[in-house]
Amino acid sequence: VRDDARAVAAEPAVTTKGVTIHVGANIGSVAEARAAAANGADLAGLVRTEFLFLDRDEAPGEDEQVAVYRAIADALGGRRIVLRTLDAGSDKPLPYLPAPPEANPFLGVRGIRHSLAHRAMFAEQLRAIVRVARETPVSVMFPMITKVEELIEARRMLGDAAGLSVGMMVEVPAAALRASDFIPYVDFLSIGTNDLTQYTLAAERGNAGLLTLSAGLDPAVEQLIQQVCRAAGDRVTVAVCGELAADAAVVPRLLAAGVRELSVAPALVPLIKQAVRGT
Ligand code: PEP
Ligand code: MG
Repeated sequence: VRDDARAVAAEPAVTTKGVTIHVGANIGSVAEARAAAANGADLAGLVRTEFLFLDRDEAPGEDEQVAVYRAIADALGGRRIVLRTLDAGSDKPLPYLPAPPEANPFLGVRGIRHSLAHRAMFAEQLRAIVRVARETPVSVMFPMITKVEELIEARRMLGDAAGLSVGMMVEVPAAALRASDFIPYVDFLSIGTNDLTQYTLAAERGNAGLLTLSAGLDPAVEQLIQQVCRAAGDRVTVAVCGELAADAAVVPRLLAAGVRELSVAPALVPLIKQAVRGT
C-alpha cells in the first residue's frame, strides 16, 4: 500500500451512523502479523496457532510458544491478539500424534475435541497463552465448540486468568442455534463462516464443485448469524472471522445483523475498512 492509503487504513473504521467497527487480521505466522500491522489492522482477530504445530516432529514446548505469541504481539505493536487454541484433527494432522483414519475428518476429532483428547498438550498451550497475557492484550478462543460442557471444561483448564478475555468460535450450527447457552461463559463470540457454511449446507469447504452452494452469504447462514447476534445482545461482542468478512458486498449485512468486529486476510484490511466507512 502507498503511504497515504496506509495512513487511511490505520484510521478507525466508523460507519456513516458513527458505529466503530474493529477490523482485524487473520494471521498464521509472525510475517503475517507484520503484514497485518502494515495494513492498519486494529487487532489480530484470529491467530491460527496451528502453524506452530503442523509439519514438525514434535509439539512446540511452552517456552517456544510464548516466544512466538510474544513476537506476534510485538509485530502488532501492542494491539490485541486473539489466540485461537489449536484447531488440529485428521483434516490438519499432527505427525507426532497419529490418529485413527476417519471417514469424514471435518466431522471428526478436530478443534476443541482434539484438545480435550490430548490434555497435556492443551494445558501446555493454555499456560503459554496465560503467560503472554500478563504482558500484552491477549484474548483466547476455542475452535469447534459444539456443547456447553466443552466450553466449561476448557475454561476450567484455563483456570483463573485475570485480564485474559475468553471467547469461542461459533462455527458449528448447534452452537449458533443455542448461542444463549454459551454466553454466560464467554466475553466474546467469533463466527467462523467457513466452517459454519460448510456444516449448515453440508457442502465441504474448498470443494470447487460445490461453489454454487457455498459461495457468498447463504440465507440460512445469515439467519444463524442474526440469531447469534440477537442472543448476544449488549452482553458480548460478536465478531466474524471467516472469509465472508472479506466480501465487501456482504459487510453491510453482517453489520445490520449486529456484528461489531471483522477479521480478514491482512492485505484486505484496508478494503474492508473502506466498506465499513461506506455502510
Ligand atoms: C472458519 O471456520 O470460518 C474459521 C475462521 O476458521 P478456519 O478457517 O481456520 O477453520
Ligand atoms: Mg473453522
